[in-house]
Amino acid sequence: MSIWDASHETMDRERLRALQLERLQATVARLYERVPHYRERLAALGAEPADVRALDDLRRLPFTTKADFRDRYPYGLFASPLADVVEVHSSSGTTGKPVVAGFTRRDLDTWAELVCRVAVMAGVQADDVAQVSFGYGMFTGGFGLHYGLQRAGATVLPMSAGNTARQLQFMQDFGTTVLVATPSYALYLAESIQALGAPDAFRLRLGLFGAEACSEEMRRQIESRIPILATDNYGLTEVMGPGVAGECECRAGMHVAEDHFVVEVVDPTTDQPVPEGEVGELVFTSITRECSPVLRYRTRDLCSVTTERCACGRTLARMGRIVGRTDDMFIISGVNIFPSAVERVLFAIEGIEPHYRIVLGRRGALDTFEVQVEVSEALFNGWMDDLRAFERRVTEELRSALLVRPKVKLVEPGTLERTEGKARRVIDERPR
Ligand SMILES: [Zn+2]
Repeated sequence: MSIWDASHETMDRERLRALQLERLQATVARLYERVPHYRERLAALGAEPADVRALDDLRRLPFTTKADFRDRYPYGLFASPLADVVEVHSSSGTTGKPVVAGFTRRDLDTWAELVCRVAVMAGVQADDVAQVSFGYGMFTGGFGLHYGLQRAGATVLPMSAGNTARQLQFMQDFGTTVLVATPSYALYLAESIQALGAPDAFRLRLGLFGAEACSEEMRRQIESRIPILATDNYGLTEVMGPGVAGECECRAGMHVAEDHFVVEVVDPTTDQPVPEGEVGELVFTSITRECSPVLRYRTRDLCSVTTERCACGRTLARMGRIVGRTDDMFIISGVNIFPSAVERVLFAIEGIEPHYRIVLGRRGALDTFEVQVEVSEALFNGWMDDLRAFERRVTEELRSALLVRPKVKLVEPGTLERTEGKARRVIDERPR
């Protein structure tokens, strides 16, 4: 196992915190001086850059949300003049104005360095041929991995997404060993490779997946089809793009590049920090960016973070899998529940089809919680007694995982609504 930048990745945590404080102070001063939005936000809290004397003072600084990026579209949050900006990226903006981020030369250099760390962490070496099947363009994924893999010394194939036949052809012709893709596209490619029936024609050994949450179940689905080690990584345009965090070969969480980002985990309702190891909303502050530093960005992603030392030797904190997003959490009888938790239980039960719906209602003063789920044809058309027993089993498994007992309703395959976009999993009929 090699470490790209041992002096930072295995830094003593006490020294790391000192470095973070120094960089945070410089970033806050830079934002205060150059970005009216941040100056106003700090002033509204009666705060000044000089108030940041310890790392924990970060908690007194304002949060930044996606709405702030949209309100200041396109260049309003830039801390560098356009003369110093050499590249701009943006999110897709499917639900509003896109988030825009600028990169100076130094920002690009840092970006390449941090993605390189993630690649080397996953096991990329100089003799690897890396096929980047992320989309190139305004999206940070394609270019981010491109720069980082080049820095790691790999031979980069800038394929971009789509055109699966060509992807497979080049994979064989160029001897691709590393695949960069979203987990869902990787699964599709893996199925296509399997269908070709010529496993020896491929040299794939490693997958760098990202840009969407990858469940353990999804990872198993991919690895069972092609002989690769699949690793997950995390990044977002608001914070930098890929390179914010990535899995090492131990696959025991994603190491956060803490010398460049301060990560906090807060309770999304009280905004207070949660104890280490507990799940909360991820909040990132970038402390080395020149053009687009961000203060306490609320990602809405929920996960836990540990600072326990990893078996790989890195001291950098590790974030667990994203368990959900604050926007899709619901509360039943005082218990917070994520659709993803319901999904994990359901998908692990044989006989259940991957289609379900959660319906929330109210009877009198009590919330009702129903899970409608499709079951296999054979089960649905079998004995009623078997179906009842199965229903009890599903109810019991959900209850033990969620600590709330749902009413489970098994439905015939093909009856729940299908969608081409995002599936609508939760229907909340409770009066506001
Ligand atoms: Zn590690």
